Amino acid sequence: MVAAARLVIAGLSRSVTFGGDLLKRVAMKPPSIDAGRETVFVGRGLTKIYATGETEVRALDGVDIDLFRGEMVVLLGPSGSGKSTLLNNLGGLDVPTGGALSYRGRDLTEADERELTLFRRNAVGFVFQFYNLIPSLTARENVALITEIAPDPMTPEEALALVGLGDRMDHFPSQLSGGQQQRVAIARAIAKRPEVLLCDEPTGALDLKTGITVLEAIEKVNVDLGTLTVIITHNAVMAEMADRVIHLSDGKISHIDNNPTRRPVRSLQW
Ligand code: ADP
Repeated sequence: MVAAARLVIAGLSRSVTFGGDLLKRVAMKPPSIDAGRETVFVGRGLTKIYATGETEVRALDGVDIDLFRGEMVVLLGPSGSGKSTLLNNLGGLDVPTGGALSYRGRDLTEADERELTLFRRNAVGFVFQFYNLIPSLTARENVALITEIAPDPMTPEEALALVGLGDRMDHFPSQLSGGQQQRVAIARAIAKRPEVLLCDEPTGALDLKTGITVLEAIEKVNVDLGTLTVIITHNAVMAEMADRVIHLSDGKISHIDNNPTRRPVRSLQW
């Protein structure tokens, strides 16, 4: 099973180059806030309209956004405000219907499927609410599936140690708690050293205490690897762990809070 999965994935890896190089360069308005920070994403007037029959949903309705290298950003807003849509557009899982979006000066709105696949594979790690681990593979093997197709990965052992699971490498998902499984998913997402880590309600299925251990793992990755980290949550307490909190409402950014200092996850009060 492992060997077969590796074979399939190894086959995919032949064409791997840095996805960004395939994307067209784009001239866009410079970021609104700069302060010497390295810009990773620039979005201008981002719109995503879902048309279902007669009705039209504006999931994103003119979003201007700049995201910078190494920062920790929390996306906060009520259900249906456009958080997942924004995250999916940033990560190349979806494309906006209007506006402009670039990653390191490369146009993501005009990218074709192959370019988006390479972008996702090389630049982006995703963590979702549900862990999507392969049940018949150990923690180490789940992470190895990714490290074998990445150009400059860390080892599965390094990735699992980073999220505090150095002593659980040979456990199967069913032998791990929910929080531990989510940390395996984080190790899998970051083992390829992505520039960007996108987390859609990573603690949504966990109790509060376990959620803290998962957030600590995300915080450590952000600090140790300098990964631009974007986390979706409903939980306003999590705002304190971020450099910036982007508030969404009805597909628009209502306001952005800059935290003068980040609060360490272990000191968050739930
Ligand atoms: P959030 O993550 O803040 O809960 P979403 O980005 O998931 O919000 O959704 C924003 C809006 O877009 C919602 O009204 C949702 O119903 C709608 N929407 C999201 N995905 C689709 C889709 N694939 N088809 C139609 N409408 C969608």
